[in-house]
Amino acid sequence: MNIKYCKCCASLIEEERLEVLPDTVFCSPCAQKIQPVKPRKGIMVWGSKDCAEIQTMSAEYYNQNKRYFVANGARSVVKNFMRG
Ligand SMILES: [Zn+2]
Repeated sequence: MNIKYCKCCASLIEEERLEVLPDTVFCSPCAQKIQPVKPRKGIMVWGSKDCAEIQTMSAEYYNQNKRYFVANGARSVVKNFMRG
């Protein structure tokens, strides 16, 4: 069983996240804030109130569209999302 704490905010890192990214040292909200240089980007997509998933995309796509993803904090990320 994986238990790791976020290097940034000391929150418990989500188990699902550790399964996908065993080497990560950040929880997903912090990882979004920090935006490490990686070929892939992931954003949290809040489908319904308790349901979130991580949508991944290329860094290029992310950079082209990040104005839609990054508003004023992690929670509002996808509200303005529209796929052109
Ligand atoms: Zn964190």
